[in-house]
Amino acid sequence: MAHLPRSWLHVYRRSLTLKIFAICFVCVHIPLIAVIAYLGTGFGAVPVPLLVLMLVATLAGTGLCLMGLMWLIQPLKQLARSVEAYQVNGGQLQLATRRPARGEDEIGVLTAAVVTMVARLEGTVKRLHHQAMTDPLTGLGNRRWLSEKVDDELSSSPPQARALSVILFDLDLFKTINDTHGHDVGDEVLVAAGQLVRSHLRRYDLPARMGGEEFCVVLPRTNITEARAIAERLRIAFSALQVAPANRGDVTASFGVYEALPGDNLHHMLSMADRALYQAKTNGRNRVAEAAHGSNGRR
Ligand code: GH3
Ligand code: MG
Ligand code: MG
Repeated sequence: MAHLPRSWLHVYRRSLTLKIFAICFVCVHIPLIAVIAYLGTGFGAVPVPLLVLMLVATLAGTGLCLMGLMWLIQPLKQLARSVEAYQVNGGQLQLATRRPARGEDEIGVLTAAVVTMVARLEGTVKRLHHQAMTDPLTGLGNRRWLSEKVDDELSSSPPQARALSVILFDLDLFKTINDTHGHDVGDEVLVAAGQLVRSHLRRYDLPARMGGEEFCVVLPRTNITEARAIAERLRIAFSALQVAPANRGDVTASFGVYEALPGDNLHHMLSMADRALYQAKTNGRNRVAEAAHGSNGRR
């Protein structure tokens, strides 16, 4: 019952049909009103002036009707333009209606619905994009995220303008942690590794979990000497890490470091860093190795 219209005015406000009908009704009757007014002045029914008056009144009524309908439909046209622009350019849905966008008739309802749906859709897209780019366990970015970020980084600065290095690292004998303490503890170690990496980096560094127990940090504005020092700091921090019931020193990591050459892409940088990481593993783990320029990556 609460949804029943409270008054005719209420019904009129909510109905585009009634508004169109009202405009047409008034405009159609303008010639008749003009004739009655003319006759009321006592001039009598002289055919020619009466015909001229009717013609003028009909034209005026037609013009007014057109203007009224255009005024009424204006928000719908603006909504269509905004949706079109939004489809082409994306960004924010701009609704610069002259009438309030929250009008109560069908156009107002449609406008509000479109705004709400677009906002919901954008929220969902944002959430899905974040999920697609994030490793759920550690909260770090994943390989896809890193790839996007590195593309941005490489395209925003000319290749020779700034140094850029990459550290690839892998937890040592992580299978043993899982086998000894269980998969849940293994997961806790990975979470702790993510936190450790985050806490040791600068605002603009790009850490990511590449999969399993392998992580990568891309370091913009960093040459090989600095990257090596950062990797060494991370290595020491890992060996001091304790995730109960594992003992301090149980979690170590091996690091491969590489400084990008102008024109390098992420794939090549990772291949080179992976080659160095392989060396660090074969040389006894819990160490940092550097990839020399000129050698080929093994990926
Ligand atoms: P290495 O020093 O040569 O890297 O030895 P490793 O034991 O670390 O490497 P290996 O590839 O033999 O084993 C990696 C293990 O990591 C095996 C896999 O079950 C475990 N692992 C991968 N992803 C996860 C994960 O998300 N959670 C847990 N708990 N374990 C994982
Ligand atoms: Mg490992
Ligand atoms: Mg591994």
